[in-house]
Amino acid sequence: MRYETVIGLEVHTELATKSKIFCGCATKFGGAPNTQVCPVCSGMPGTLPVLNRAVVDCAIRAGLALNCEITRNNKFDRKNYFYPDLPKAYQVSQLYAPICTDGWLEVAAEDGGTKRVSIREIHMEEDAGKLVHDDWEDASLADYNRCGTALLEIVTQPDFRAASEVVDYIEKLKAILEYTGVSDCKMQEGSLRADINLSVRPVGAKELGTRTEMKNINSLRAIARAIEAETARQIELIEDGGRVVQETRRWDDSAGESCSMRAKEDAQDYRYFPEPDLPPIEITDAQIAEIRASLPELPQAKRRRYMEELGLPEYDTGILTGSVYLMRLFEETCAACGDPKEAANWIMGEVLGQLKLTQTLPENMIFAPASLGKLILLLRGNVINRGTAKKVFQKVFAENVDPEQYVKEHNLALMTDGGAIRSALEGVLAANEKSVNEYRGGKAQAFQYLIGQGMRALRGQAPAQEVTRLLKELLDD
Ligand code: ADP
Ligand code: MG
Ligand code: ZN
Repeated sequence: MRYETVIGLEVHTELATKSKIFCGCATKFGGAPNTQVCPVCSGMPGTLPVLNRAVVDCAIRAGLALNCEITRNNKFDRKNYFYPDLPKAYQVSQLYAPICTDGWLEVAAEDGGTKRVSIREIHMEEDAGKLVHDDWEDASLADYNRCGTALLEIVTQPDFRAASEVVDYIEKLKAILEYTGVSDCKMQEGSLRADINLSVRPVGAKELGTRTEMKNINSLRAIARAIEAETARQIELIEDGGRVVQETRRWDDSAGESCSMRAKEDAQDYRYFPEPDLPPIEITDAQIAEIRASLPELPQAKRRRYMEELGLPEYDTGILTGSVYLMRLFEETCAACGDPKEAANWIMGEVLGQLKLTQTLPENMIFAPASLGKLILLLRGNVINRGTAKKVFQKVFAENVDPEQYVKEHNLALMTDGGAIRSALEGVLAANEKSVNEYRGGKAQAFQYLIGQGMRALRGQAPAQEVTRLLKELLDD
């Protein structure tokens, strides 16, 4: 029998707001444990939450960018569960009236075309803390810094049919959240995490199969591997006459397999009820209109414009718009040098090359974006040649040197002094009498050899045209 994989995603993204959702504590990543906590976010009895309005604005931004309806009358609900990293023993979330509903995002379909993935809802909630398992002391320690950080949970319909569609969705979603400033989406810091709900069914079947859920997978590679492995596991189970059990599974990426973590809870297990400590939030049409007007040009629109107005190849535009950091570099480089084609070529070639070579993520590039534009201008103005430009770029990339200053300090500019070039070439001719005679005797290859010697004597720093011209002149004297 042939099977079809069916996947729905729940993506949690930490908002880029400076403070937490219900208190004034900082959200900055990487602080010493338990230094960013207060009585509210550490769940002391008797404290009261106060909603950070910036969270609502962020949620609306995300919703509009993802083609959602915005709910005018919002409420929060309590989701009750005990876990050591959740000191209140409940999480404030939205069950009954999520802030955004019925959106969509277009992704590359497995069969080659594009398809719309439906976004069922986006809701606001608070994050839990983190447990640090200390094997040395045989203990688990609780760090509450992350407790109360604002999250959006973005839930799709079960519309994916392959790992490639899921990966494309997450990449596009990530770009949109970055462009709109909703989240920094650093997957390795856990600010974008995906839960994968997956079932299989015979091709052509109408009913969905029983699904499992794999939680908090935080790299695209791991997500793709987890999907392949879970699909195979479910098919094998069914083929062997077994049944898939609805459960939460833990994906172990180093082992390449998942194991059962716990039976899946239903909504009633959480004893949801309306959060009594927070008033409902009204969202007005004016507020929505204002946020809509402030949205930046989104990746999809930008991509189309790069193709149509700048004439860039489709593949390149996908890369250039796929990361907000590459997009900004591209636009600032264009602004500095006025040459989009050359800017795109440099980013597709040298920048991607250096990122790969040094295993750097675009968000961690350190050089001033205008530097690449300056470098292109030096090349175009014939101040340096392409080989030198590439070498200088490595320094720009690694150490953020200023290209103009670097070229000057290291004496890398092409020679513009015709007299100096001429005297260097005279030296070359004197040292290569044999080739000179061959050339004069009618042997054309000898000329190429002499050019090579000339370029070498000039350390590649003389314009090739000028070397050719002067050499001819000297030989034909
Ligand atoms: P829960 O409330 O238990 O998390 P939901 O109904 O909200 O369950 O669905 C969570 C996610 O699981 C959604 O993305 C949804 O599309 C997906 N999903 C639901 N049923 C299935 C199924 N049978 N196969 C694959 N994905 C599913
Ligand atoms: Mg869920
Ligand atoms: Zn706090």
